[in-house]
Parts: sequence; structure tokens; C-alpha cells
Amino acid sequence: KKQIGIVGSGVASLAMGIRMACLGHQVDIFEANAFPGGKLSEFEIEGYRFDAGPSLFTLPHLVDELFTLAQKNPRDYFNYTRLPEICRYFWEDQTRLTTYQNPADTAHEIAQNLGENEKKVHDFILGLQDKYQIISELFLENSLHQPSTWLGKKAWRGYLNIPRLGLFSSMHQYHKSTFKNPKTVQLFDRYATYNGSDPYQTPATLSIIPHLEYNLGAYFPRGGMIAITQSLHQLAVDLGVRFRFNEKVTRIICKNQQAIGLETAKGQYPFDAVVSNMDIRPSYQKLLQDQIQPKRLLQQEQSSSGIIFYWGMNKSWDELGVHNIFFSDHYQEEFKAIFTDKTLHEDPTVYVHISSKVAPEDAPKGGENWFILINCPSNIGQNWDELVSLTRERVIQKISRVLGQDIRPYIIAEDYLDPRRIENRTSSAGGALYGNASNNRFAAFLRHPNYRQSIKNLYWVGGSVHPGGGIPLCLSSAKIAAKLFQENA
Ligand code: FAD
Repeated sequence: KKQIGIVGSGVASLAMGIRMACLGHQVDIFEANAFPGGKLSEFEIEGYRFDAGPSLFTLPHLVDELFTLAQKNPRDYFNYTRLPEICRYFWEDQTRLTTYQNPADTAHEIAQNLGENEKKVHDFILGLQDKYQIISELFLENSLHQPSTWLGKKAWRGYLNIPRLGLFSSMHQYHKSTFKNPKTVQLFDRYATYNGSDPYQTPATLSIIPHLEYNLGAYFPRGGMIAITQSLHQLAVDLGVRFRFNEKVTRIICKNQQAIGLETAKGQYPFDAVVSNMDIRPSYQKLLQDQIQPKRLLQQEQSSSGIIFYWGMNKSWDELGVHNIFFSDHYQEEFKAIFTDKTLHEDPTVYVHISSKVAPEDAPKGGENWFILINCPSNIGQNWDELVSLTRERVIQKISRVLGQDIRPYIIAEDYLDPRRIENRTSSAGGALYGNASNNRFAAFLRHPNYRQSIKNLYWVGGSVHPGGGIPLCLSSAKIAAKLFQENA
């Protein structure tokens, strides 16, 4: 039985703690905040409940798997439903369409409203399955930094399919060569933002992302997104994992190139192995100051961050669903503003999530809880107070214009989050939502590994390391790290 110390309690840490406890080890998780879950947290204002971070839940079996591993019935801890409707899309010229859980319905809707060939769209969506399979076997389930990954049968399947995987063109070029209507291109380009990247730069390989929604489904957990980390925390506690809240780790103690413990303001704790769930940049810069720094990785461009408005509305809108997008008419300029000029465009794309559409208890009767996310650059010292108030105004005007009704009078409670606050609350460098951006092949596929070659017994899990950000990939990072741990034990 080994003693394992974990820095941070984000979703990847909870998964890692559960996996280690299932192997019979004693796990201690140190968390700077007073609660588990990191970017997943919730709050309430005047009867409106909000999930502060993620709003879209895909691949729920990756959560279920942890309960099954612990020989528990997932349904005793955690429940969710599949959303019949995935997202409602709005453009300024009044074009509108909805995507559905059934690919045939989505293809029909796109053909009807955007003039695409229905069969072509349907085949495109179904074809994502095959590409996803190849990439997930190679990339999402294994460490890319182990020779065994590159020599196995699955790797060869990947090599043979390289021309089909779109490593050498951008996501935008690929969609542009596939669809005739720029709005269809925009709709599929949007998925680059699911890992905080720019569709005009990110490799076409990432065009597999919509497969998660269109073929595998968008889900909503009972009790809100927070139920994901609350239930995993409960499982971890039931398995004997110990949590130390309000205890920030200040150093990973290393001796003879081995991680041997953690240091906090309360003292030093010896461990046989250490796992960091802290963003990779501060992990090195704050916890491993005396170690060699992986300079190239730490200098990579960061993924986008977000300005999030939480608005309690005292009215409900039939034309809105659980997930809604109000597209910018200047999509390419919007990404240039974010990734090149490090600011926000005056016509931003606006995402509105309304959980009270499926969970009426999240808002007072007759009202709705609007979670509004606008992609923005990570924090490099911009004037956020000014950008937040400018963006608030632009969002109100845009939604009012498109819905044909002034929404301002209906906002009766509000709060917001910006990159500074995300950084303060979760230690993510610059408040980036997904670690490094995937705006080139190197960055997309060669993130920091889930271990450190030169420091024994040190592992990494979470959105800033392999395989990437977002809940499903964070859960995969824990699975890969646990496998590496077992191989090294
Ligand atoms: P994090 O959530 O980053 O948590 C790290 C934890 O470690 C924090 O609790 C922090 O306090 C703690 N910590 C850090 N340093 C220390 C230290 N030195 N000592 C002690 N504790 C420490 N993903 C999706 O799948 N779907 C979405 O719809 C989605 N939308 C998002 C919207 C927003 C607004 C945000 C912010 C993120 C969104 N994401 C989404 C991304 C997703 O939330 C993250 O990829 C994921 O939650 C990151 O988990 P993590 O395990 O890396 O840890």
C-alpha cells in the first residue's frame, strides 16, 4: 500500500484519487479552495442557481466507469438524461436552426435552413465516428510519450489513416471544402472552441469534436453540472480518500530526482508518489522552482479564456433552448481579435446556457437562469474591468437585436467571471480554460505528458496536460496516469 499525495481536487484529481484508492493505496488530496471540483462549482443569487464553469456534459460513461471500477452502482450516486435537442443557432439575418440527438434530424435541419445536401451532411456526421475511433485509441487512451503507444497495432491503424485525419490542413479549410454555405462552415468550425482553439489555425483532425455531441449525445446531470464532481467526491470519501481543504500546496518536495512529499503552510507531508492537478505552468513555476523547466511547453500559446455573465431573468423565452449560440457575423476577425490582438471583437459570438429549461428548480417560476459565455484571450494584463463592461453592453444589444426584444429590463440578478477571477480561483495560468491552445500540430498533440521523465514518482492529471482540456479528456488523463503508475509500481 502506497501513500499518494495529490495537489488540487479538480475533476481529474478526483478521478485519479478514486483510481488509486481502488488499487488499494492511501490517497490525500490537498485543495486550496474550501470545496472540491475546481472549475466545477455552483452558486445561487436570489433564487437562481448557476453552475459556474462547464455547462456541456458529454461521454457520461467516463464518469460511470469510476463507480463501476469501485464496484458501486453509478445510479446510487449520479444520474443524468440525454438532451433530445443539442443546440439552437441564431444568426443576425434571422437564420435559425436546431441540432438534435438524432443525426438524421440535424442533417435535415441544416439542409432545410442552410441549403446543404441532406445526405452529404448526414454522411459527414456519421463519418466522424470512424475518425474519432482511430484518434481516441491512439491519442485519448494512451500516453503519447511511451514507445509502446507508437509501436502497437492501433498506432499502425492511425499511420495508415494519416491522410484522412487532416493533420496538415486547418479545421476551417476542411469544412470550407466540405460545405457550400459559410454558415454551415461556421457551425462546424465552432467546435474548435471546445478546447479553446482557433478553427482557422487548429488542425482539421479536431473536426472530430462534434462527433461527441451529434453521434454520442449531449447530457444533463440531475442536480446540475456540479453533480459530476459532488458525486465523485462522495465516492472518493467512501473509498477512504482524505481531503484537506483550504490547504494550498507550496512545494513538491524532490530528493535525488524523486518526488517524496508535499509542503504546505502547515508543514511537510511525506508520500511515495505525488500527482499534480495544478495547471502545468504554476506547477513548475511555483511548486518545482528548483527543477529544470520544460521551456518550450511553458512558452506555448494558451487556450482561450472566457467572460461569463450569470443573469437571473424574470421572463422566459420559448425560442431559446438549453444551449444556444448567437453567431458573430465576423467570425474570422473574432478569432484574430482573441488570438492575435489578445482582446475581444465588437461583434462577439455569444453562448447562452439555460439549465432551468430542463431543471425548472434552477430559477424562480416564470424566470430563467442565463449563463452567458463569450470567448476571450487569456489574461496578459488587459483592462478587464473595461472589457467586461463593454462586452456586457455588446451582448445585451446582440441578443436583443436577434430576438427582436430588449432583454435589459429582465435582468434582475447578476454576477460575472473573467480570466483574472478564473486564475485566482483555480490557479489556471492566465485563466485559460483548457491549458495550452491547439493552434498547431505540436501543441494539439504533444502536450505535457502525464509524468516527468527526470523526476520519479511524479504524475500529472488535468486539463493542461495530455490529452487535453474539458471534462472527458481530464477523466482520460487520470486513466492514463493511473496506468503509468501501475506500470512503474
Ligand atoms: P481544475 O478544475 O482546473 O481544478 C484544479 C484545482 O486544483 C482547483 O480546485 C485549484 O484550487 C486546485 N489547486 C491548484 N493549485 C493548487 C495548489 N498549489 N494547492 C492546492 N490546490 C491547488 N469542459 C467541458 O467538458 N464542458 C464545458 O462545457 C466546459 N465549459 C467550461 C466553461 C468554463 C467557464 C470553464 C472555466 C471551463 C469549462 N470547461 C468545460 C473546461 C473544464 O472545466 C476543465 O477542463 C476541467 O474542469 C479542468 O479540470 P482539472 O482537473 O484540470 O482541474
